Amino acid sequence: MKKFIRKIAEWFRHKYHFYTSPKFNFELVKDLPEFLPERKVLVVAEGNQSDTLAFKCPCGCDSTILLNLLQDTKPRWKYRVTKRGNITISPSVWRKVGCKSHFFVREGRIDWV
Ligand SMILES: [Zn+2]
Repeated sequence: MKKFIRKIAEWFRHKYHFYTSPKFNFELVKDLPEFLPERKVLVVAEGNQSDTLAFKCPCGCDSTILLNLLQDTKPRWKYRVTKRGNITISPSVWRKVGCKSHFFVREGRIDWV
C-alpha cells in the first residue's frame, strides 16, 4: 500500500513538472542560424522537405540538439503538430554525450524520462 501511494505521488510530481515546464514553440526556417533561440524548435526545411529539427538542450547545458528527419538516414525522428498547434517529437531524445539528457517532446513540453 505504501508503495502504491508513493507511486501515485511520483506520478503527480511528474505531471506537475510536465505541465509547469516552459513550452517550446516551433518555427520553420530555411537555414540553421548561428545561434539558436531559447525554447524554440527550429524545423529546417528545404522546399517541402523538412530535414532537421534543431533546438537547445532543455536541461540548460546550452548544447545544440540536431535531429534527423530524413527517411533514408538513421537514426530518424518524426514530428507532428497537434490540434492545439504544439509540436510533438517521436521517439524520445537521448543524448549519448554531454549531459546525457533523455526526454520526450510532447505538446511542446519536455517530458523527462
Ligand atoms: Zn543538456
